[in-house]
Amino acid sequence: MSDVWQQLEATYRARTNASRDHYERALANLPGGDTRTGTFFLPYPTFMARGAGCRLWDVDGNEYIDCLSNFTSLVHGHAHPEVTRAIAEQAARGTAHGAPVESQIALATAIRERLPSIELLRFTNSGTEAAMMTIRAARAFTGRPKILKMEGAYHGSYDAVRVSVHPKLSDHIAPLWPLGEPDEPGLSQGAVAEVLIAPFNDLETAAAIVRRHRHELAAVIVEPMMGAAGMIPAERSFLSGLRDVTRNAGVLLILDEVITLRLAWGGAQSLYDITPDLTLLGKIIGGGLPIGAFGGRADIMAFYDPRRSDVIAHSGTFNGNAVTMAAGLATLELLTPAAIERINMLGDRLRSSLSAALANARIPARVTGLGSLSHVHLSDEPVVDYRSAARAADGAALLLHLALMNHGVLAASRGMFITSTAMQDTDVDHVAEAYAEALREAGSTLGQVPATLPA
Ligand code: PMP
Repeated sequence: MSDVWQQLEATYRARTNASRDHYERALANLPGGDTRTGTFFLPYPTFMARGAGCRLWDVDGNEYIDCLSNFTSLVHGHAHPEVTRAIAEQAARGTAHGAPVESQIALATAIRERLPSIELLRFTNSGTEAAMMTIRAARAFTGRPKILKMEGAYHGSYDAVRVSVHPKLSDHIAPLWPLGEPDEPGLSQGAVAEVLIAPFNDLETAAAIVRRHRHELAAVIVEPMMGAAGMIPAERSFLSGLRDVTRNAGVLLILDEVITLRLAWGGAQSLYDITPDLTLLGKIIGGGLPIGAFGGRADIMAFYDPRRSDVIAHSGTFNGNAVTMAAGLATLELLTPAAIERINMLGDRLRSSLSAALANARIPARVTGLGSLSHVHLSDEPVVDYRSAARAADGAALLLHLALMNHGVLAASRGMFITSTAMQDTDVDHVAEAYAEALREAGSTLGQVPATLPA
């Protein structure tokens, strides 16, 4: 294994001298050399210089097909001319005026047209803030302190959702639902104590927790498809069962559609025919600029109305800024039902060719996902929740990722592949060919790769 890694690393280093220089300079300024944890990979990340459509060019001039789409947010690829024009035109009129702007109404209307469960909404600068404000609203509305989240689910970096995102697993110790594990040092102990954890796609366990804790539970927060955990779709009965049990228990249901909105005109909630009380949005609705949004039932969202005395204050210097609104609106206008269908078909094509490449190379794998969102799990068991995903070979995924970078394909190091409207069938086929090549280079060792690579 390590021989293969050394070879891949040597090739990577030889093509990315300028990235290595940038990285060394970055280390002197930014802990770990970046401002995002998720972009890091060994031996050092590639610095990108320019993007256009589904292509990226790094600081050494290497070209990549972008299957990362800034972690699913660039649904039309890089620098789409209409989005760029909307940004430039608005920037020339000012970025944020310290006052409401009309484009907020336009973007809010465009979102509400797609998601009828959203009666009122507010904009934030990130999905993290949207999660924070939604949970606060749920507590204010119900008068109860706790939330229930799914094991392995990522909802941003707010304390209350940094519980059991990557818990360590032991085959010998049965999980003690609903006890969670803080993910990192520095979290508020009080916040951690207010989070209950349930296994994804296990309705019986999740419903029992909701019923047992109904008197202290404000909300259940769940993704229709767990994204960062590995594009693991919810079973229909799981989501509809959660909707029923929360409604009957008087507990709110929050759907996190930060990633899944792109799956259908009405988001994943339309695919699953679920009406949540509150929804979180982010990523694509900002057209490539920082954004988040949260919304839902008018009686809950009313807590954000400053005309009331018990208002939840939600001030953010850049909330709803005019440039993001313009970029988001241009992006949603381009994301027609036909465009969604096309990227979903590209996603189907990619999943089937990646599966075929893995089968040819006799590597046990499950390619999960829906529509334009896919994930390769190097595992020979069905992936239905955090635990089954976590048993897959992480180290092998990193090896393949580096091999893919060497072949000019950018995907998430954990194995996530995204299609965008900027792609054609030929781009997807190119990715699949590069993947087959990467498997040839790394494949013979993949069966024996340890869970994590040496640092
Ligand atoms: N929820 C989900 C499902 C996400 O995937 C993310 C980000 N990847 C967030 C919330 C947080 O969004 P942001 O990165 O904008 O804070």
